[in-house]
Amino acid sequence: MNDSEIPEVSLPQIGTAVDGFAEVVESASASAADRTSHGKGIDDHQVHCERIAYLASQLEAVRAACEYAESMEEAGLDPGSAVDQAAVVAGEVLSGLNAQVVAAPEDFDLNSSATEWLSAGRTRDSIALFCSEARVRALGRRIAETRGVNNGWLADDDAIMVRDSVRSFAEQELGPIAERIHRNDELVPDSLISKMAEMGYFGMSAPEEYGGLGMGNLPMILTTEELSRVSLAAGGSLITRPEILTKALLKGGTEEQKSKWLAAVGSGELMVGISVTEPDVGSDVASVACRAEPATEGGRKGYRINGAKAWCTFAGRANVLALLARTDFSEGSGARGLSLFIVEKDPFDGHEFCQRQEGGGVLEGKADATPGYRGMHSFTLSFENYFVPEENLVGGESGKNKGFYLQMNGFAAGRLQTGGRACGLAQAALEVSAAYVADRRQFGRPLSEFQLTQYKLGRMASHLHACRCLTYKAALAMDRDERASLQPAMAKLLACDMAVHVAQEGQLLHGGWGYAEEYPISRYVVDAQVLPIFEGVKPILELKVIARQLLAS
Ligand SMILES: Cc1cc2nc3c(=O)[nH]c(=O)nc-3n(C[C@H](O)[C@H](O)[C@H](O)COP(=O)(O)OP(=O)(O)OC[C@H]3O[C@@H](n4cnc5c(N)ncnc54)[C@H](O)[C@@H]3O)c2cc1C
Repeated sequence: MNDSEIPEVSLPQIGTAVDGFAEVVESASASAADRTSHGKGIDDHQVHCERIAYLASQLEAVRAACEYAESMEEAGLDPGSAVDQAAVVAGEVLSGLNAQVVAAPEDFDLNSSATEWLSAGRTRDSIALFCSEARVRALGRRIAETRGVNNGWLADDDAIMVRDSVRSFAEQELGPIAERIHRNDELVPDSLISKMAEMGYFGMSAPEEYGGLGMGNLPMILTTEELSRVSLAAGGSLITRPEILTKALLKGGTEEQKSKWLAAVGSGELMVGISVTEPDVGSDVASVACRAEPATEGGRKGYRINGAKAWCTFAGRANVLALLARTDFSEGSGARGLSLFIVEKDPFDGHEFCQRQEGGGVLEGKADATPGYRGMHSFTLSFENYFVPEENLVGGESGKNKGFYLQMNGFAAGRLQTGGRACGLAQAALEVSAAYVADRRQFGRPLSEFQLTQYKLGRMASHLHACRCLTYKAALAMDRDERASLQPAMAKLLACDMAVHVAQEGQLLHGGWGYAEEYPISRYVVDAQVLPIFEGVKPILELKVIARQLLAS
Protein backbone atom coordinates (compact mmCIF):
# COMPACT_ATOMS: atom_id res chain seq x y z
CA MET A 1 0.00 0.00 0.00
CA ASN A 2 1.43 3.43 -0.87
CA ASP A 3 0.47 7.05 -0.20
CA SER A 4 -1.77 7.24 -3.28
CA GLU A 5 -4.07 4.65 -1.72
CA ILE A 6 -4.80 6.74 1.36
CA PRO A 7 -8.51 7.51 1.32
CA GLU A 8 -9.07 11.25 1.38
CA VAL A 9 -10.74 12.83 4.34
CA SER A 10 -11.96 16.40 4.77
CA LEU A 11 -12.45 18.61 7.79
CA PRO A 12 -16.22 18.89 7.20
CA GLN A 13 -16.42 15.07 7.26
CA ILE A 14 -14.65 14.98 10.61
CA GLY A 15 -16.79 17.90 11.78
CA THR A 16 -19.98 15.96 11.05
CA ALA A 17 -18.69 13.01 13.05
CA VAL A 18 -17.71 15.31 15.90
CA ASP A 19 -21.26 16.68 15.98
CA GLY A 20 -22.61 13.15 16.27
CA PHE A 21 -20.06 12.31 18.95
CA ALA A 22 -21.04 15.45 20.87
CA GLU A 23 -24.68 14.42 20.72
CA VAL A 24 -23.83 11.02 22.20
CA VAL A 25 -21.75 12.57 24.99
CA GLU A 26 -24.49 15.11 25.75
CA SER A 27 -27.16 12.44 25.82
CA ALA A 28 -25.07 10.16 28.03
CA SER A 29 -24.20 13.08 30.31
CA ALA A 30 -27.85 14.09 30.63
CA SER A 31 -28.79 10.53 31.63
CA ALA A 32 -25.91 10.35 34.09
CA ALA A 33 -26.77 13.76 35.52
CA ASP A 34 -30.28 12.47 36.12
CA ARG A 35 -29.11 9.26 37.73
CA THR A 36 -26.54 10.96 39.96
CA SER A 37 -28.73 13.92 41.01
CA HIS A 38 -26.48 16.24 39.04
CA GLY A 39 -23.24 14.75 40.22
CA LYS A 40 -24.06 14.36 43.91
CA GLY A 41 -24.34 10.60 43.54
CA ILE A 42 -21.27 10.00 41.38
CA ASP A 43 -19.86 7.57 43.92
CA ASP A 44 -22.83 5.27 43.31
CA HIS A 45 -22.02 5.19 39.58
CA GLN A 46 -18.24 5.62 39.52
CA VAL A 47 -17.47 3.28 36.66
CA HIS A 48 -19.91 4.90 34.29
CA CYS A 49 -19.06 8.46 35.37
CA GLU A 50 -15.41 7.72 34.69
CA ARG A 51 -16.36 6.66 31.15
CA ILE A 52 -18.26 9.87 30.58
CA ALA A 53 -15.43 12.04 31.91
CA TYR A 54 -12.98 10.31 29.62
CA LEU A 55 -15.21 10.42 26.54
CA ALA A 56 -16.02 14.09 27.07
CA SER A 57 -12.29 14.82 27.34
CA GLN A 58 -11.62 12.87 24.15
CA LEU A 59 -14.36 14.83 22.41
CA GLU A 60 -12.65 18.05 23.44
CA ALA A 61 -9.31 16.79 22.14
CA VAL A 62 -10.77 15.86 18.75
CA ARG A 63 -12.50 19.24 18.58
CA ALA A 64 -9.24 21.00 19.42
CA ALA A 65 -7.40 19.07 16.70
CA CYS A 66 -10.08 20.00 14.14
CA GLU A 67 -10.01 23.66 15.19
CA TYR A 68 -6.24 23.68 14.80
CA ALA A 69 -6.53 22.39 11.21
CA GLU A 70 -9.31 24.91 10.49
CA SER A 71 -7.14 27.76 11.78
CA MET A 72 -4.39 26.68 9.43
CA GLU A 73 -6.82 26.78 6.53
CA GLU A 74 -8.05 30.20 7.60
CA ALA A 75 -4.46 31.39 7.63
CA GLY A 76 -4.19 30.28 4.01
CA LEU A 77 -2.05 27.25 4.79
CA ASP A 78 -2.41 23.63 3.77
CA PRO A 79 -3.34 21.82 7.01
CA GLY A 80 -1.90 18.62 5.51
CA SER A 81 -1.16 16.09 8.20
CA ALA A 82 -3.15 18.06 10.80
CA VAL A 83 -6.34 16.84 9.11
CA ASP A 84 -5.09 13.26 8.97
CA GLN A 85 -4.08 13.36 12.63
CA ALA A 86 -7.48 14.73 13.65
CA ALA A 87 -9.13 12.01 11.57
CA VAL A 88 -7.08 9.21 13.13
CA VAL A 89 -7.83 10.32 16.68
CA ALA A 90 -11.52 10.90 15.87
CA GLY A 91 -11.79 7.45 14.31
CA GLU A 92 -10.09 5.68 17.21
CA VAL A 93 -12.10 7.52 19.83
CA LEU A 94 -15.36 6.83 18.01
CA SER A 95 -14.63 3.14 17.67
CA GLY A 96 -13.87 3.06 21.42
CA LEU A 97 -17.14 4.84 22.10
CA ASN A 98 -19.03 2.29 20.07
CA ALA A 99 -17.52 -0.58 22.01
CA GLN A 100 -18.34 1.05 25.33
CA VAL A 101 -21.97 1.67 24.42
CA VAL A 102 -22.31 -1.92 23.22
CA ALA A 103 -20.92 -3.15 26.56
CA ALA A 104 -23.10 -0.94 28.78
CA PRO A 105 -26.18 0.24 26.84
CA GLU A 106 -28.32 0.69 29.94
CA ASP A 107 -25.75 2.86 31.65
CA PHE A 108 -25.40 5.09 28.60
CA ASP A 109 -29.17 5.28 28.21
CA LEU A 110 -28.82 7.28 25.01
CA ASN A 111 -31.71 9.11 23.39
CA SER A 112 -33.01 7.75 20.10
CA SER A 113 -31.20 10.24 17.92
CA ALA A 114 -27.81 9.52 19.53
CA THR A 115 -28.45 5.76 19.32
CA GLU A 116 -29.42 6.05 15.69
CA TRP A 117 -26.33 8.07 14.81
CA LEU A 118 -24.04 5.66 16.57
CA SER A 119 -25.43 2.59 14.83
CA ALA A 120 -25.83 4.21 11.41
CA GLY A 121 -23.88 2.71 8.56
CA ARG A 122 -22.44 6.11 7.65
CA THR A 123 -20.98 6.47 11.15
CA ARG A 124 -19.24 3.12 10.82
CA ASP A 125 -18.02 4.11 7.37
CA SER A 126 -16.60 7.33 8.84
CA ILE A 127 -14.75 5.43 11.55
CA ALA A 128 -13.22 3.09 8.99
CA LEU A 129 -12.30 6.01 6.75
CA PHE A 130 -10.78 8.10 9.53
CA CYS A 131 -8.50 5.49 11.00
CA SER A 132 -7.62 3.65 7.84
CA GLU A 133 -4.39 1.79 8.26
CA ALA A 134 -2.95 3.49 5.16
CA ARG A 135 -3.49 6.93 6.71
CA VAL A 136 -1.90 5.99 10.02
CA ARG A 137 1.08 4.39 8.35
CA ALA A 138 1.63 7.34 6.05
CA LEU A 139 1.73 9.59 9.11
CA GLY A 140 4.20 7.19 10.71
CA ARG A 141 6.45 7.22 7.64
CA ARG A 142 6.52 11.00 7.73
CA ILE A 143 7.41 10.94 11.41
CA ALA A 144 10.31 8.58 10.72
CA GLU A 145 11.51 10.78 7.84
CA THR A 146 11.37 13.98 9.88
CA ARG A 147 12.56 12.20 13.03
CA GLY A 148 9.42 13.41 14.73
CA VAL A 149 10.60 17.00 15.11
CA ASN A 150 7.81 19.33 16.15
CA ASN A 151 7.76 22.51 14.13
CA GLY A 152 3.99 22.60 14.02
CA TRP A 153 2.31 25.80 12.93
CA LEU A 154 1.37 28.30 15.63
CA ALA A 155 -0.96 31.20 14.95
CA ASP A 156 1.13 33.63 16.93
CA ASP A 157 4.66 34.62 15.82
CA ASP A 158 5.61 35.43 19.42
CA ALA A 159 4.64 31.92 20.42
CA ILE A 160 6.94 30.51 17.72
CA MET A 161 9.75 32.69 19.02
CA VAL A 162 9.17 31.44 22.55
CA ARG A 163 9.18 27.83 21.40
CA ASP A 164 12.38 28.25 19.38
CA SER A 165 14.21 30.15 22.05
CA VAL A 166 13.26 27.79 24.90
CA ARG A 167 14.12 24.80 22.72
CA SER A 168 17.62 26.05 22.14
CA PHE A 169 18.01 27.03 25.81
CA ALA A 170 16.84 23.58 26.93
CA GLU A 171 19.09 21.74 24.50
CA GLN A 172 22.14 23.80 25.44
CA GLU A 173 21.71 24.20 29.18
CA LEU A 174 19.65 21.24 30.27
CA GLY A 175 20.54 18.67 27.64
CA PRO A 176 24.09 18.00 28.88
CA ILE A 177 23.00 17.41 32.50
CA ALA A 178 19.54 15.83 32.24
CA GLU A 179 20.70 12.22 32.06
CA ARG A 180 23.30 12.65 34.80
CA ILE A 181 20.76 14.14 37.20
CA HIS A 182 18.41 11.23 36.59
CA ARG A 183 20.97 8.46 36.93
CA ASN A 184 22.59 9.86 40.09
CA ASP A 185 19.41 11.33 41.54
CA GLU A 186 21.23 14.66 41.82
CA LEU A 187 19.59 17.92 42.77
CA VAL A 188 18.84 20.36 39.96
CA PRO A 189 21.89 22.67 40.03
CA ASP A 190 21.47 26.27 41.15
CA SER A 191 23.30 27.40 38.02
CA LEU A 192 20.41 26.06 35.90
CA ILE A 193 17.83 27.70 38.15
CA SER A 194 19.66 31.03 37.83
CA LYS A 195 19.78 30.76 34.06
CA MET A 196 16.08 29.89 33.90
CA ALA A 197 15.36 32.82 36.19
CA GLU A 198 17.33 35.14 33.90
CA MET A 199 15.16 33.99 31.01
CA GLY A 200 12.05 34.85 33.05
CA TYR A 201 10.69 31.30 32.99
CA PHE A 202 9.29 31.41 36.52
CA GLY A 203 7.05 34.42 36.00
CA MET A 204 5.80 34.06 32.46
CA SER A 205 2.09 34.04 33.16
CA ALA A 206 2.15 36.32 36.22
CA PRO A 207 0.86 39.87 35.61
CA GLU A 208 3.45 42.58 34.91
CA GLU A 209 2.21 44.68 37.84
CA TYR A 210 3.52 41.92 40.11
CA GLY A 211 6.84 41.55 38.38
CA GLY A 212 5.80 38.82 35.94
CA LEU A 213 6.14 38.89 32.18
CA GLY A 214 2.36 38.96 31.70
CA MET A 215 2.68 36.74 28.64
CA GLY A 216 -0.31 34.57 29.42
CA ASN A 217 -0.64 30.83 29.59
CA LEU A 218 0.31 29.76 26.06
CA PRO A 219 3.94 30.93 26.23
CA MET A 220 4.14 29.37 29.68
CA ILE A 221 2.90 26.07 28.25
CA LEU A 222 5.32 26.22 25.32
CA THR A 223 8.15 26.90 27.73
CA THR A 224 7.13 24.01 29.94
CA GLU A 225 6.78 21.73 26.95
CA GLU A 226 10.22 22.48 25.56
CA LEU A 227 11.91 22.15 28.96
CA SER A 228 10.07 18.89 29.64
CA ARG A 229 11.12 17.59 26.24
CA VAL A 230 14.67 17.62 27.53
CA SER A 231 13.90 16.72 31.14
CA LEU A 232 10.56 16.44 32.89
CA ALA A 233 12.11 16.38 36.34
CA ALA A 234 15.06 18.72 36.03
CA GLY A 235 13.44 21.24 33.70
CA GLY A 236 9.73 21.47 32.92
CA SER A 237 8.58 20.67 36.42
CA LEU A 238 10.55 23.52 37.97
CA ILE A 239 7.88 25.89 36.71
CA THR A 240 4.92 24.00 38.15
CA ARG A 241 5.26 25.00 41.78
CA PRO A 242 5.68 28.74 41.13
CA GLU A 243 2.65 28.54 38.82
CA ILE A 244 0.49 26.90 41.51
CA LEU A 245 1.46 29.36 44.24
CA THR A 246 1.20 32.34 41.89
CA LYS A 247 -2.35 31.43 40.87
CA ALA A 248 -3.38 30.81 44.50
CA LEU A 249 -1.95 34.19 45.55
CA LEU A 250 -3.57 35.99 42.65
CA LYS A 251 -6.87 34.45 43.61
CA GLY A 252 -6.80 34.97 47.35
CA GLY A 253 -3.69 36.81 48.52
CA THR A 254 -3.84 40.25 50.11
CA GLU A 255 -2.28 43.14 48.18
CA GLU A 256 0.72 43.08 50.55
CA GLN A 257 1.18 39.37 49.95
CA LYS A 258 0.95 39.73 46.19
CA SER A 259 3.52 42.54 46.27
CA LYS A 260 5.81 40.65 48.61
CA TRP A 261 5.74 37.16 47.10
CA LEU A 262 4.77 37.27 43.44
CA ALA A 263 7.78 39.19 42.18
CA ALA A 264 10.17 37.08 44.26
CA VAL A 265 8.60 33.84 43.02
CA GLY A 266 8.36 35.06 39.41
CA SER A 267 11.99 36.17 39.36
CA GLY A 268 13.17 32.78 40.56
CA GLU A 269 14.63 34.34 43.68
CA LEU A 270 12.39 32.05 45.72
CA MET A 271 11.89 28.39 44.91
CA VAL A 272 8.56 26.90 45.95
CA GLY A 273 7.32 23.56 47.28
CA ILE A 274 3.62 22.63 47.43
CA SER A 275 2.67 20.71 50.55
CA VAL A 276 -0.83 19.27 50.52
CA THR A 277 -0.49 15.47 50.63
CA GLU A 278 0.05 13.69 53.96
CA PRO A 279 1.07 10.13 54.72
CA ASP A 280 -2.57 9.24 55.45
CA VAL A 281 -4.28 11.86 53.30
CA GLY A 282 -4.00 11.87 49.53
CA SER A 283 -7.00 12.26 47.28
CA ASP A 284 -9.30 13.17 50.16
CA VAL A 285 -7.71 16.60 50.59
CA ALA A 286 -10.58 17.80 52.78
CA SER A 287 -9.26 15.45 55.49
CA VAL A 288 -5.88 17.18 55.81
CA ALA A 289 -4.82 16.77 59.44
CA CYS A 290 -1.62 18.82 59.77
CA ARG A 291 -2.51 21.49 62.34
CA ALA A 292 -1.87 25.23 62.41
CA GLU A 293 -2.76 26.63 65.81
CA PRO A 294 -2.62 30.28 66.88
CA ALA A 295 0.55 31.10 68.80
CA THR A 296 2.83 33.97 69.69
CA GLU A 297 6.57 33.81 69.40
CA GLY A 298 9.02 36.57 70.30
CA GLY A 299 6.07 38.97 70.44
CA ARG A 300 4.94 38.02 66.93
CA LYS A 301 1.51 36.63 66.30
CA GLY A 302 1.24 33.60 64.11
CA TYR A 303 0.64 29.88 63.98
CA ARG A 304 2.46 26.76 65.15
CA ILE A 305 2.47 23.94 62.64
CA ASN A 306 2.41 20.34 63.80
CA GLY A 307 2.00 17.24 61.70
CA ALA A 308 3.35 15.22 58.84
CA LYS A 309 3.28 15.87 55.12
CA ALA A 310 4.22 13.57 52.25
CA TRP A 311 5.50 13.83 48.70
CA CYS A 312 6.45 17.48 48.90
CA THR A 313 8.50 17.89 45.74
CA PHE A 314 11.54 20.20 45.91
CA ALA A 315 10.92 20.78 49.63
CA GLY A 316 14.66 20.58 50.33
CA ARG A 317 15.79 23.26 47.90
CA ALA A 318 12.65 25.36 48.28
CA ASN A 319 12.75 28.67 50.12
CA VAL A 320 9.00 28.60 50.75
CA LEU A 321 6.39 25.89 51.07
CA ALA A 322 2.75 26.53 50.20
CA LEU A 323 1.30 24.49 53.04
CA LEU A 324 -2.31 23.44 53.46
CA ALA A 325 -3.07 22.99 57.16
CA ARG A 326 -6.07 22.69 59.41
CA THR A 327 -7.13 25.80 61.27
CA ASP A 328 -10.65 24.71 62.24
CA PHE A 329 -10.56 21.65 64.46
CA SER A 330 -14.29 21.26 64.97
CA GLU A 331 -15.68 17.93 63.85
CA GLY A 332 -16.89 17.93 60.27
CA SER A 333 -15.13 21.16 59.32
CA GLY A 334 -13.55 19.25 56.39
CA ALA A 335 -12.54 21.42 53.44
CA ARG A 336 -13.93 24.49 55.21
CA GLY A 337 -11.40 24.16 58.00
CA LEU A 338 -8.20 24.45 55.97
CA SER A 339 -5.92 27.41 55.40
CA LEU A 340 -3.03 28.04 53.06
CA PHE A 341 0.25 29.23 54.56
CA ILE A 342 3.50 30.38 53.04
CA VAL A 343 6.09 28.65 55.18
CA GLU A 344 9.58 30.10 54.96
CA LYS A 345 12.60 27.86 55.29
CA ASP A 346 16.24 27.71 54.29
CA PRO A 347 17.20 25.89 51.11
CA PHE A 348 19.04 22.58 51.56
CA ASP A 349 20.88 20.31 49.17
CA GLY A 350 20.70 16.57 49.44
CA HIS A 351 18.09 14.02 50.39
CA GLU A 352 17.55 14.98 54.03
CA PHE A 353 17.34 18.19 55.99
CA CYS A 354 16.50 19.51 59.40
CA GLN A 355 15.70 23.13 60.14
CA ARG A 356 15.51 24.40 63.70
CA GLN A 357 13.94 27.71 64.66
CA GLU A 358 15.18 29.79 67.56
CA GLY A 359 11.84 29.35 69.31
CA GLY A 360 12.19 25.58 69.18
CA GLY A 361 10.25 24.76 66.03
CA VAL A 362 11.62 21.98 63.85
CA LEU A 363 11.02 21.02 60.23
CA GLU A 364 12.56 17.78 59.08
CA GLY A 365 12.50 16.34 55.60
CA LYS A 366 13.57 13.07 54.01
CA ALA A 367 13.32 12.35 50.30
CA ASP A 368 11.56 9.18 49.18
CA ALA A 369 13.46 7.18 46.62
CA THR A 370 11.63 6.97 43.28
CA PRO A 371 12.39 5.20 39.98
CA GLY A 372 11.94 8.41 37.99
CA TYR A 373 11.07 12.09 38.32
CA ARG A 374 14.47 12.67 39.87
CA GLY A 375 16.22 15.97 40.26
CA MET A 376 13.93 17.78 42.65
CA HIS A 377 13.32 14.98 45.16
CA SER A 378 9.96 14.51 46.84
CA PHE A 379 10.06 14.68 50.64
CA THR A 380 8.18 13.34 53.61
CA LEU A 381 8.06 16.24 56.08
CA SER A 382 7.59 16.48 59.80
CA PHE A 383 6.58 19.79 61.39
CA GLU A 384 7.02 20.16 65.12
CA ASN A 385 5.91 23.48 66.61
CA TYR A 386 7.18 25.21 63.48
CA PHE A 387 6.26 28.89 63.73
CA VAL A 388 4.73 30.80 60.82
CA PRO A 389 3.91 34.52 61.27
CA GLU A 390 0.30 35.57 60.78
CA GLU A 391 1.11 37.64 57.71
CA ASN A 392 1.97 34.38 55.93
CA LEU A 393 -1.59 33.13 56.09
CA VAL A 394 -2.72 33.57 52.48
CA GLY A 395 -5.54 36.09 52.36
CA GLY A 396 -4.84 37.25 55.91
CA GLU A 397 -7.51 36.75 58.54
CA SER A 398 -10.21 36.65 55.86
CA GLY A 399 -8.33 33.87 54.08
CA LYS A 400 -8.61 31.69 57.17
CA ASN A 401 -10.37 28.40 56.41
CA LYS A 402 -10.42 29.22 52.69
CA GLY A 403 -7.19 27.42 51.88
CA PHE A 404 -8.83 24.46 50.19
CA TYR A 405 -10.42 26.65 47.54
CA LEU A 406 -7.25 28.67 46.96
CA GLN A 407 -5.23 25.50 46.66
CA MET A 408 -7.72 24.02 44.18
CA ASN A 409 -7.46 27.20 42.14
CA GLY A 410 -3.71 26.78 42.09
CA PHE A 411 -4.09 23.14 41.08
CA ALA A 412 -6.23 24.09 38.08
CA ALA A 413 -3.24 26.08 36.80
CA GLY A 414 -0.93 23.24 37.78
CA ARG A 415 -2.97 20.81 35.71
CA LEU A 416 -2.77 22.97 32.64
CA GLN A 417 0.96 23.15 33.16
CA THR A 418 1.10 19.38 33.50
CA GLY A 419 -0.66 19.00 30.16
CA GLY A 420 2.34 20.86 28.71
CA ARG A 421 4.79 18.73 30.69
CA ALA A 422 3.20 15.54 29.35
CA CYS A 423 3.27 16.77 25.74
CA GLY A 424 6.93 17.72 26.10
CA LEU A 425 7.88 14.33 27.47
CA ALA A 426 5.87 12.50 24.79
CA GLN A 427 7.52 14.64 22.13
CA ALA A 428 10.93 13.55 23.38
CA ALA A 429 9.83 9.90 23.32
CA LEU A 430 8.48 10.26 19.79
CA GLU A 431 11.67 11.88 18.51
CA VAL A 432 14.09 9.35 19.94
CA SER A 433 11.86 6.49 18.78
CA ALA A 434 11.55 7.91 15.26
CA ALA A 435 15.32 8.29 15.05
CA TYR A 436 15.92 4.84 16.47
CA VAL A 437 13.62 3.02 14.03
CA ALA A 438 15.08 4.95 11.10
CA ASP A 439 18.61 3.92 12.07
CA ARG A 440 18.12 0.42 13.43
CA ARG A 441 18.08 -2.39 10.89
CA GLN A 442 16.66 -5.88 11.33
CA PHE A 443 15.87 -8.49 8.68
CA GLY A 444 17.95 -6.39 6.29
CA ARG A 445 15.81 -3.25 6.50
CA PRO A 446 15.42 -0.23 8.74
CA LEU A 447 12.69 -0.86 11.33
CA SER A 448 10.89 2.20 9.96
CA GLU A 449 10.14 0.30 6.76
CA PHE A 450 7.99 -2.25 8.55
CA GLN A 451 4.26 -1.60 8.45
CA LEU A 452 3.64 -2.08 12.13
CA THR A 453 6.42 0.33 13.07
CA GLN A 454 4.93 2.98 10.81
CA TYR A 455 1.49 2.34 12.24
CA LYS A 456 2.71 2.74 15.79
CA LEU A 457 4.56 5.96 15.05
CA GLY A 458 1.50 7.33 13.25
CA ARG A 459 -0.72 6.63 16.25
CA MET A 460 1.77 8.04 18.74
CA ALA A 461 2.12 11.26 16.75
CA SER A 462 -1.62 11.68 16.20
CA HIS A 463 -2.54 11.30 19.85
CA LEU A 464 0.27 13.60 20.89
CA HIS A 465 -0.93 16.17 18.37
CA ALA A 466 -4.53 16.06 19.66
CA CYS A 467 -3.41 16.39 23.29
CA ARG A 468 -1.16 19.29 22.37
CA CYS A 469 -4.03 21.05 20.58
CA LEU A 470 -6.25 20.54 23.63
CA THR A 471 -3.59 21.82 26.03
CA TYR A 472 -3.03 24.96 23.96
CA LYS A 473 -6.77 25.49 23.71
CA ALA A 474 -7.08 25.12 27.49
CA ALA A 475 -4.27 27.67 27.95
CA LEU A 476 -6.14 30.21 25.83
CA ALA A 477 -9.39 29.42 27.64
CA MET A 478 -7.65 30.14 30.95
CA ASP A 479 -6.33 33.42 29.58
CA ARG A 480 -9.90 34.42 28.81
CA ASP A 481 -11.29 33.23 32.13
CA GLU A 482 -8.98 32.19 34.93
CA ARG A 483 -11.80 30.15 36.47
CA ALA A 484 -11.84 27.83 33.46
CA SER A 485 -10.82 24.63 35.15
CA LEU A 486 -12.57 21.95 33.08
CA GLN A 487 -10.44 22.11 29.96
CA PRO A 488 -7.14 22.17 31.87
CA ALA A 489 -8.29 19.09 33.80
CA MET A 490 -9.24 17.33 30.54
CA ALA A 491 -5.90 18.29 28.99
CA LYS A 492 -4.05 16.93 32.01
CA LEU A 493 -6.05 13.70 32.00
CA LEU A 494 -5.53 12.85 28.35
CA ALA A 495 -2.02 14.22 27.90
CA CYS A 496 -0.68 12.27 30.88
CA ASP A 497 -2.21 9.01 29.67
CA MET A 498 -0.93 9.73 26.19
CA ALA A 499 2.60 10.40 27.51
CA VAL A 500 2.65 7.07 29.36
CA HIS A 501 1.45 5.27 26.23
CA VAL A 502 3.82 7.06 23.83
CA ALA A 503 6.80 6.47 26.10
CA GLN A 504 5.98 2.77 26.49
CA GLU A 505 5.38 2.29 22.77
CA GLY A 506 8.65 4.09 22.13
CA GLN A 507 10.40 1.78 24.56
CA LEU A 508 9.04 -1.26 22.72
CA LEU A 509 10.24 0.20 19.43
CA HIS A 510 13.72 0.29 20.97
CA GLY A 511 13.49 -3.42 21.83
CA GLY A 512 15.93 -4.47 24.55
CA TRP A 513 17.82 -1.20 24.23
CA GLY A 514 14.72 0.60 25.42
CA TYR A 515 15.34 -1.00 28.79
CA ALA A 516 18.95 0.17 28.95
CA GLU A 517 19.68 3.28 30.99
CA GLU A 518 22.02 4.30 28.22
CA TYR A 519 19.01 5.18 26.07
CA PRO A 520 16.91 8.14 27.24
CA ILE A 521 13.65 6.36 26.37
CA SER A 522 14.09 4.31 29.56
CA ARG A 523 14.07 7.60 31.53
CA TYR A 524 11.04 8.88 29.67
CA VAL A 525 9.11 5.73 30.61
CA VAL A 526 9.75 6.02 34.35
CA ASP A 527 9.26 9.78 34.31
CA ALA A 528 5.96 9.50 32.40
CA GLN A 529 4.48 7.14 34.96
CA VAL A 530 4.25 9.84 37.59
CA LEU A 531 2.19 12.15 35.38
CA PRO A 532 -1.23 10.53 35.93
CA ILE A 533 -0.56 10.36 39.69
CA PHE A 534 -0.02 13.89 40.91
CA GLU A 535 -2.29 16.94 40.90
CA GLY A 536 -5.29 14.68 41.27
CA VAL A 537 -4.56 11.02 40.62
CA LYS A 538 -6.32 9.98 37.41
CA PRO A 539 -9.53 8.44 38.86
CA ILE A 540 -10.02 11.38 41.19
CA LEU A 541 -9.45 13.85 38.36
CA GLU A 542 -12.04 12.00 36.30
CA LEU A 543 -14.66 11.63 39.01
CA LYS A 544 -14.24 14.59 41.35
CA VAL A 545 -13.14 17.24 38.90
CA ILE A 546 -14.31 16.42 35.38
CA ALA A 547 -17.45 14.30 35.92
CA ARG A 548 -18.57 16.53 38.77
CA GLN A 549 -18.44 19.62 36.55
CA LEU A 550 -19.99 17.88 33.55
CA LEU A 551 -22.89 16.47 35.49
CA ALA A 552 -23.56 19.50 37.65
CA SER A 553 -25.77 21.28 35.13
C1 LIG B 1 6.65 11.87 42.55
C2 LIG B 1 5.49 12.51 43.24
C3 LIG B 1 5.51 13.87 43.49
C4 LIG B 1 4.47 14.47 44.16
N1 LIG B 1 4.54 15.81 44.46
C5 LIG B 1 3.63 16.35 45.29
C6 LIG B 1 3.80 17.67 45.78
O1 LIG B 1 4.74 18.38 45.40
N2 LIG B 1 2.92 18.14 46.70
C7 LIG B 1 1.86 17.39 47.15
O2 LIG B 1 1.09 17.87 47.98
N3 LIG B 1 1.66 16.12 46.69
C8 LIG B 1 2.53 15.59 45.78
N4 LIG B 1 2.36 14.29 45.34
C9 LIG B 1 1.28 13.50 45.89
C10 LIG B 1 0.17 13.22 44.90
O3 LIG B 1 -0.55 14.38 44.62
C11 LIG B 1 -0.69 12.10 45.53
O4 LIG B 1 0.06 10.92 45.46
C12 LIG B 1 -2.02 11.95 44.85
O5 LIG B 1 -2.83 13.05 45.09
C13 LIG B 1 -2.75 10.69 45.30
O6 LIG B 1 -2.79 10.58 46.68
P1 LIG B 1 -2.32 9.21 47.37
O7 LIG B 1 -0.98 8.88 46.84
O8 LIG B 1 -2.45 9.34 48.84
O9 LIG B 1 -3.33 8.11 46.84
P2 LIG B 1 -4.75 7.74 47.45
O10 LIG B 1 -5.59 8.93 47.61
O11 LIG B 1 -4.57 6.85 48.62
O12 LIG B 1 -5.34 6.89 46.24
C14 LIG B 1 -4.90 5.58 45.93
C15 LIG B 1 -5.79 5.06 44.78
O13 LIG B 1 -7.13 4.97 45.21
C16 LIG B 1 -7.96 5.70 44.34
N5 LIG B 1 -9.02 6.36 45.08
C17 LIG B 1 -8.91 7.17 46.17
N6 LIG B 1 -10.10 7.64 46.53
C18 LIG B 1 -10.98 7.12 45.66
C19 LIG B 1 -12.38 7.26 45.50
N7 LIG B 1 -13.15 8.02 46.28
N8 LIG B 1 -12.97 6.59 44.49
C20 LIG B 1 -12.26 5.81 43.65
N9 LIG B 1 -10.94 5.66 43.75
C21 LIG B 1 -10.30 6.31 44.73
C22 LIG B 1 -7.06 6.73 43.69
O14 LIG B 1 -7.56 7.17 42.46
C23 LIG B 1 -5.77 5.98 43.57
O15 LIG B 1 -5.79 5.23 42.39
C24 LIG B 1 3.37 13.69 44.59
C25 LIG B 1 3.33 12.32 44.30
C26 LIG B 1 4.37 11.72 43.64
C27 LIG B 1 4.32 10.25 43.39
